[in-house]
Amino acid sequence: MGDLVCSKCNARYSLNDKRWRCDCGGYLNIEFDAEINIEKIGSRAPTMWRYKEAIPLDDYSNIVSFNEGFTPLTQCDIYSKKAFLKLDYLFPSGSYKDRGASVLISKAKETGVDHLIEDSSGNAGCAVASYAAKADIRCDIYVPQDTSAAKLSQIQAYGADLHMVSGSRSDTSDAALKAAEHYYYASHTWNPFFLQGTKTFAYEIWEQLNFNAPDILFIPTGNGTLLIGAYIGFCDLKNNHLIKNMPKFIAVQSENCAPVYKLFKENLSYVPEIDNIPTIAEGIAINKPLRGRQIAEVISKTNGDIVTVSDDEIKKSLVYLSKIGLYVEPTSASVVAAFSKYKTNSSDIAILPLTGNGLKSNEKILHILKEMETEQHS
Ligand SMILES: *Cc1c(COP(=O)(O)O)cnc(C)c1O
Ligand SMILES: [Zn+2]
Repeated sequence: MGDLVCSKCNARYSLNDKRWRCDCGGYLNIEFDAEINIEKIGSRAPTMWRYKEAIPLDDYSNIVSFNEGFTPLTQCDIYSKKAFLKLDYLFPSGSYKDRGASVLISKAKETGVDHLIEDSSGNAGCAVASYAAKADIRCDIYVPQDTSAAKLSQIQAYGADLHMVSGSRSDTSDAALKAAEHYYYASHTWNPFFLQGTKTFAYEIWEQLNFNAPDILFIPTGNGTLLIGAYIGFCDLKNNHLIKNMPKFIAVQSENCAPVYKLFKENLSYVPEIDNIPTIAEGIAINKPLRGRQIAEVISKTNGDIVTVSDDEIKKSLVYLSKIGLYVEPTSASVVAAFSKYKTNSSDIAILPLTGNGLKSNEKILHILKEMETEQHS
């Protein structure tokens, strides 16, 4: 029905091969003709699995799901410009990563995986641990030692074995890679089934806009799992002749950690080394994104762009969002900051995903609120 295809040497493998990278070391993509039939999907419950013919599983009895998805799309005035906010922080584990985890763990179940490994700086670990619990698959999650407390508690509560790794984010990946020599590597960055879940973000927006594509999307970008997934989703719609034009993709990175910005602007063929400056946008603080080139390709192919935002701009946007009733984690406010300063046409249908729940970052947010109050009063 489709293949795993190597991004480097074009080698092909079966979708049922329990591998997460090519023999040559390259990362894999999935080639698969997604079927989207308006009549079928309209007769089904409003969950991301209403598009199941577009998701490469052999047997739907393997689906691992909480009936998640179909998050609200709500129109708001953002600094006097109209935008549609997609409330993807309303997933069972509190972030859009559940889209990817639901498909990835379904496929793991289908291929008989009984023990898996993931590494993450937070939300992906929470999502994978949650769906592994539902599927009764044993799960080891590797995280950097400084991961926020709420996410650590969440991962442990789901029953995953939590491994705290000292050193950098890449030390954590190395530890996970070592463990993955023995068990299935359910990595959200390496494993392309994750992107077959995040692509449902595009389908839902299309349906919620009365079967139309938006004009422009602002996507928070670290490893690019939402950006690349959304791109695959809109390509599927185009291949099924359900939309005419692709929307423009605007990738948003933190000024303090913007390797893809440099790669794109300087047209590099590799992900450049950058300084590691801390940022409030922890969810997109990825200094060496595996799929950096692929992200840049999405931007060029859609006539899109890439924008960086400062921690100050993110904080202001976070407070702005809270004041209009939306409580999200700081990373998610980055797209609002980007939208507010980016020149768009007033007729453009613009999409801003809100990716992570504010309840995961209470202490950080409280701190930001206090900081801003003091600034106002001084
Ligand atoms: C993971 C995450 C992102 C960005 O995802 P990437 O795959 O790293 O591009 C954005 N927001 C939140 C809240 C996240 O957890
Ligand atoms: Zn290869």
